[in-house]
Amino acid sequence: MKKILLISQLILSLSIYGQGFELVTLGSDGGVMDGNVSGYLLKGEGDENFIALDAGTILPGIKVGLEKGSFKNTIIPKETEWNDIGYIFREKVKGYLISHAHLDHISGLVISSTEDTKKNIYGLNSTVETMKNNIFNWQIWPNFANEGEGFKLNQYTYKVLDLNKEYVLENTKLKVKTFPLSHSNYESSMFLIENEGDYLAYFGDVGPDKIERTDKLEKTYRALGPLLKNKKIKGIMIEVSFDNSKKDEALFGHLTPMWINKELDILAKYSGIENLEGLNIIITHIKPSLKKNDDMRERIKKELNESNIYKVNYIFPTQGDLLLLK
Ligand SMILES: [Zn+2]
Ligand SMILES: [Zn+2]
Repeated sequence: MKKILLISQLILSLSIYGQGFELVTLGSDGGVMDGNVSGYLLKGEGDENFIALDAGTILPGIKVGLEKGSFKNTIIPKETEWNDIGYIFREKVKGYLISHAHLDHISGLVISSTEDTKKNIYGLNSTVETMKNNIFNWQIWPNFANEGEGFKLNQYTYKVLDLNKEYVLENTKLKVKTFPLSHSNYESSMFLIENEGDYLAYFGDVGPDKIERTDKLEKTYRALGPLLKNKKIKGIMIEVSFDNSKKDEALFGHLTPMWINKELDILAKYSGIENLEGLNIIITHIKPSLKKNDDMRERIKKELNESNIYKVNYIFPTQGDLLLLK
């Protein structure tokens, strides 16, 4: 009897603390509408708390996520003094992983900081230095952080991530390893996030190695290859800013569907072609067009799906969508 109880408890705990991820898109685009630029909330399946992957848009994304029912697994206590947006933002987002400090990846964090709680900002040294010197400096914005110019409000603690070292993201089940990327000669990053043996790869803005004259993307594929072989990667989030009409010299550190296909050729080399089939590739950072009757998102979708020789599973989330990656 005791044994049966133990087994059933074990099954229950496995189902509660399963692997995989929950991802809520806060901002799906790479410009030009403020209120919907690069930001995502990620948590390990069975966890209560989120980490933000970039922070271009925070509160408007949580609002749309609530409207779409994407926080159905988040318990909001009745006695809280905060509204639902405020509670999720203040109590359930436990930190920010910033891929690089371009405005479309940090503006939501800055604007909402006056209502935020004590959290860590994680990033490469170059990212942290840029935020320290150019954002939280009492000129662009008060210094809400623990280092930098003038009086320090100490709400945010900078956590510099060293390359190839694994860090626990505090108050979550997640761990992260960081790889550098080249984004028009500016440093960006790829975060390899682990939840109990399952992984998600989040690429910040990045240009093709060939154009950036580097091997940084290839190095990330080398790291992802063995994990793909073992079916441990539950999703790859990567940018496609422009459609194929964009000339290489006008890319400025971004990717197109044509370049995604070339990058997949190299990823296939390290992982085996067969291991890419069905792989979740989540497309981020699409730059909307303001021209009449011109839908950049639809065009990129079409170009990717028409040339999908590896049969990967392209996903194009929009603001507020919930994705379960298992
Ligand atoms: Zn960007
Ligand atoms: Zn950028």
